[in-house]
Amino acid sequence: MSEAVRAMLAAIQTVDEMIAAFGDERQCRRLLEALVWPNGRICPACGYKKTIPIAGRDMGRRRARPGLYQCSSGECRFQFTATTHTPLHSTKLPLSTWFKALWLMLQSDKGMSSVRLAEALGVSQPTAWRMGHALRLMVAREAPLAGTVEIDEFYLGGRLKRSPDAPPPGRGRKGQRRTTKAPVLAMVQRPEATTIGSSAGHARASVVEDLSFAQTEQVLEIGVDPRAHLMSDDWTTF
Ligand SMILES: [Zn+2]
Repeated sequence: MSEAVRAMLAAIQTVDEMIAAFGDERQCRRLLEALVWPNGRICPACGYKKTIPIAGRDMGRRRARPGLYQCSSGECRFQFTATTHTPLHSTKLPLSTWFKALWLMLQSDKGMSSVRLAEALGVSQPTAWRMGHALRLMVAREAPLAGTVEIDEFYLGGRLKRSPDAPPPGRGRKGQRRTTKAPVLAMVQRPEATTIGSSAGHARASVVEDLSFAQTEQVLEIGVDPRAHLMSDDWTTF
């Protein structure tokens, strides 16, 4: 996340100040744009740096929505907002609600449960859970792991699913995984210093649907610097 936005969020001390800061959608949109494009607006489809605002422009049947931009590259012409291709894409919630959630999450060092987040924001608990997940992704992609990153897979969720008449546990049928456990991709950044007592590397873990190349690539794209050196012991995807 850009330093300016982080400093701004840290400067908000009270709930009243928070309400004033995130009071209107236009203000929140400007803040989000500063957060997503700390070095100036770029096209999320092709990376082109020339883009033009088209919000409010007559689009035939309707007017272009607030915060809409268009890529100026002749081959691209992609239309986008600050949420396009981010975890906040196609949100129905007001941006002010997202910023309040981000502020609340940054306030609590140990993270905030979705139950508490739901209470504070007046949204349902599943919504709060999804928001927390999306915001952690947003923050993570602003500070990707770099240097040498070790990748490992493991499975979450304890037991194999068994029905009483199922064959005994052990090998699954050939070519078929019987586990219902969710695969998790763990990424650990190797610490720079390797002396005793130095801090461990930053780590990140993501639950994935499967360990296919596409899923893995998606996770790594968000959490790891593209220049990082990837290492994995027993993994064929690399
Ligand atoms: Zn473009």
